[in-house]
Amino acid sequence: MRKWPAIFIGFLMFYVINIFKGPQKPLVRPPGALPEDEFLAVCIRCGQCSQVCPYHSIHIADGKKGFSIGTPYLNLREKPCFLCKDFHCIETCPSKALVSIEKQNVKMGLAQIDTTTCNAWLGDECRMCYVSCPFYDKAIQLPDFRRPVISPENCVGCGVCEYVCVKDNPAIKVNPMG
Ligand code: SF4
Ligand code: SF4
Ligand code: SF4
Repeated sequence: MRKWPAIFIGFLMFYVINIFKGPQKPLVRPPGALPEDEFLAVCIRCGQCSQVCPYHSIHIADGKKGFSIGTPYLNLREKPCFLCKDFHCIETCPSKALVSIEKQNVKMGLAQIDTTTCNAWLGDECRMCYVSCPFYDKAIQLPDFRRPVISPENCVGCGVCEYVCVKDNPAIKVNPMG
């Protein structure tokens, strides 16, 4: 029976240590998120944005994500942001950690192509990311009609390209803003 308090304390310490260690890497926040430091201060960790996302794209960070524990984030390869009409996550946020924004001004991150693994850059026919991007021919362009190139001004970091990339390890990934 005496084992249980020790196990409980062990778990508690694991979480506390992880919280103070800080996040392993920056997280992709939902659209309209305040700059990361402000976001961490303003978000009240209610999880409502996650509950209303029609695509179940928004996760809630656990103790392994350091100070971000309880805050919303996206795993874009698993499920991107589809920039839904009316931005349900922003609309429902009670603390204004997510603020109203025009679709083209969203900045969740910036996509980057690994030209050493991308099929198109290796000479094969592949336009999956290009045709799937919600900002068609703007955020991903084909200057030579073959190889995709990111336009940083137009990419909003929604992650649809990362989601649809045909490679097992996606050749296009979004780097979070934070
Ligand atoms: S904009 Fe819509 S699809 Fe994107 S994270 Fe928010 S609720 Fe989900
Ligand atoms: S390039 Fe990718 S992340 Fe950027 S807007 Fe297009 S689909 Fe979204
Ligand atoms: S979907 Fe992936 S492999 Fe195909 S062109 Fe885009 S980044 Fe390259």
